[in-house]
Amino acid sequence: MKPKIGFIGLGVMGKPMALNLLSAGYPMIVWNRTRSKMDDVVARGAEAASSPKEVAEKSDVVITMVSDSPDVEEVILGPSGVIEGAREGLIVIDMSTISPEVTRRIAERLSEKGVKMLDAPVSGGDVGAREGTLSIMVGGPREVFERCLPIFKVLGKRITYMGPNGAGQMTKLCNQVICALNIQAVCEGLILAAKAGLDLEKLLNVVTAGAAGSWMLSNLGPKMLKRDFKPGFKIKHQQKDIRLALSAAAALNLPLPATSLVHQIFRIAEAEGLSEKGTQALITAMEKVAGVKVEA
Ligand code: NAP
Repeated sequence: MKPKIGFIGLGVMGKPMALNLLSAGYPMIVWNRTRSKMDDVVARGAEAASSPKEVAEKSDVVITMVSDSPDVEEVILGPSGVIEGAREGLIVIDMSTISPEVTRRIAERLSEKGVKMLDAPVSGGDVGAREGTLSIMVGGPREVFERCLPIFKVLGKRITYMGPNGAGQMTKLCNQVICALNIQAVCEGLILAAKAGLDLEKLLNVVTAGAAGSWMLSNLGPKMLKRDFKPGFKIKHQQKDIRLALSAAAALNLPLPATSLVHQIFRIAEAEGLSEKGTQALITAMEKVAGVKVEA
């Protein structure tokens, strides 16, 4: 029999992930801070809980998909949190992107109650979440990873065990450094093309197929041209991830010069009130600097 999954956090990513697990036949109980966001998942057969504690009491595997480190701490260790409803043998999988250090601390606290934890952040965006094609990078006890593999296979395509608790999150921070710089590269290429008066649709079409091709270019390039700034991946979350990466690098006495610069450029977008928009809205910050508009 399939284990019962408790799903906490039904945002842009969590909701489609929960729906995919329901479609795969997993029994499910869900909780979301804003209750109305549970409606669609409940309509598809999930039970609604009144707290993360209740989710833990009534499930075998709890998945959390919330925003930042303090949010994961709150839903797992806070009042009426998962830890209050946890029993020995429960598995907790945090799929949010948070600090590797905080992850290890949460895993330690849970282990005092006989609960095993995996950090399993993802990459592939809202598209990957909907299509069940996420890349999943996992830290934690290897035997727990093996047991949870059928669940990961519903959510993602490339699933990789990276090492002990925190290794999944550290991998995701490396991923985010590469993503952030890549978005900046897409913006600068498009800005140059616009200023030079090139046909932007044609440009995207040809460079996507060459060595400059990337997930960012294919997925966000067309949105930039269409001025579609709906998230996707919110700028505030991108900034959280760069902040986490810079802090991990600082602890290792490691310079990440271009990452620091992109952090500042994203701050221009934040200052413009674009925190809740998708990362493709970075193009508007670059347009201000360049005095040119990127539009199809
Ligand atoms: P989102 O749409 O903003 O959803 C965030 C979810 O977390 C919402 O359900 C929110 O509840 C809940 N939440 C936040 N703080 C909470 C708290 N203190 N207590 C309880 N619930 C809380 O974000 P998302 O895009 O789904 O991202 C979720 C995580 O996945 C983030 O760590 C993000 O960095 C990561 N991620 C995102 C993407 C992407 O492309 N979107 C890709 C890979 C990884 P409410 O509904 O009440 O606000």
